[in-house]
Amino acid sequence: MTCAARRFEHALLIDGTGRAPLPDATVTVDGDGRITYAGPAELAPESPGAAVFDLQGMTLLPGFIDAHVHFLFGPKTNSPAADQALTAFQVAERMRRTLHAGVTAARDLGGLSAGYARAQEVGLIEAPRLLTAGRIIGHTGGHCDATGPDGHSATSHFTILADDELSARVAVRTILREGADVVKICATGGMGSPHDDPDDEDLSEAEIRAVVDEARRHRGKKVAAHAQGTAGILNALRGGVASVEHGYGMTEEACDLALANGAFLVPTLATAFNPLDPAKMTAAHFEKKSRWADNTRQNIALAISRGVSIAMGTDAGVSPHALNLMELSYLVQLGMTELQAITTGTLSGARLLGIDNAVGTVEAGKLADLVVTDVNPLDDIAALARPEHIRMVLQAGSIRKDTLSAATRSLIPS
Ligand SMILES: [Zn+2]
Repeated sequence: MTCAARRFEHALLIDGTGRAPLPDATVTVDGDGRITYAGPAELAPESPGAAVFDLQGMTLLPGFIDAHVHFLFGPKTNSPAADQALTAFQVAERMRRTLHAGVTAARDLGGLSAGYARAQEVGLIEAPRLLTAGRIIGHTGGHCDATGPDGHSATSHFTILADDELSARVAVRTILREGADVVKICATGGMGSPHDDPDDEDLSEAEIRAVVDEARRHRGKKVAAHAQGTAGILNALRGGVASVEHGYGMTEEACDLALANGAFLVPTLATAFNPLDPAKMTAAHFEKKSRWADNTRQNIALAISRGVSIAMGTDAGVSPHALNLMELSYLVQLGMTELQAITTGTLSGARLLGIDNAVGTVEAGKLADLVVTDVNPLDDIAALARPEHIRMVLQAGSIRKDTLSAATRSLIPS
């Protein structure tokens, strides 16, 4: 027994599979944190001794999965020379807020060391379940190389440079030695990078193929490609990556390739929908971002309409932390139904992360990573993004946040 058995009653259940919502559902969880039943109240088995939660008026969902975050980055990001303990506590605080916003699993695509994932696993910190990429692999002078003209690099803690197929393979071996769960590469330049643009290519198709093959040789590790412009997106897909991150320049051809390969798109729409503040960036950066935002909406809408597999990712760290579920409303604005957006943020993310055997839906046999909200997200998906509407969060049956029972308790006269 790792936690108390629990029984949730009278909830509107949206189970993450894409099935229609089920009113007056019962969900039972055993002492090992596993879901033993999720379905209509009238068919629910007894659960003697379980703590009972009355979820009348609430919606019960799987915990959400953000497939693209950077917990190391944030408004209070320290320079690498800053105190490491201070950085660690700042990261832990971002993770806890993200968990409390309903995200029970996340994939950190650059910057975070594997120690944070291990700390979460053993319960040292309350955080989403974590997959980490550690250092990002890219070309000299590419998107993730912020080395200045004087040769001074402030980015070696989140970047590893590779300029041919062999050094790309060595880079994969190096980051796996450092504990990476997933390999992150740059296939294009970027919005904020000093030396290049989204339409510039980074790793070549042959180098990407070498990375994908090297990752495969190590227990089938997956490769995620930062890919914004069309040329690099096509290189990444032809090279066999598991996911295109951002994908702003998706075309019909790119959709065809993604569909043929079973590759995912993680569109990080927060970066295209967040209003831009010219006071907070250089003029060149502002111009670049504005120009790309419109194209992004059209191209991601195309990918949605073509049925490309999409997982929710926010680029939190570049976009704000703990507002992750805003991404769902952006997906709806570009053509998804609310139910499709919820599946994108749950089951699809679990599939991309390779954890769908354990989490991602509310079904018997899976771990009870659950979210309870006081809104009906099918009526108002944007409201889900406000952390105060996330009333309970559980991971494997253990309560991580509960403002619901606390409110109920306060009604009981003492
Ligand atoms: Zn990113």
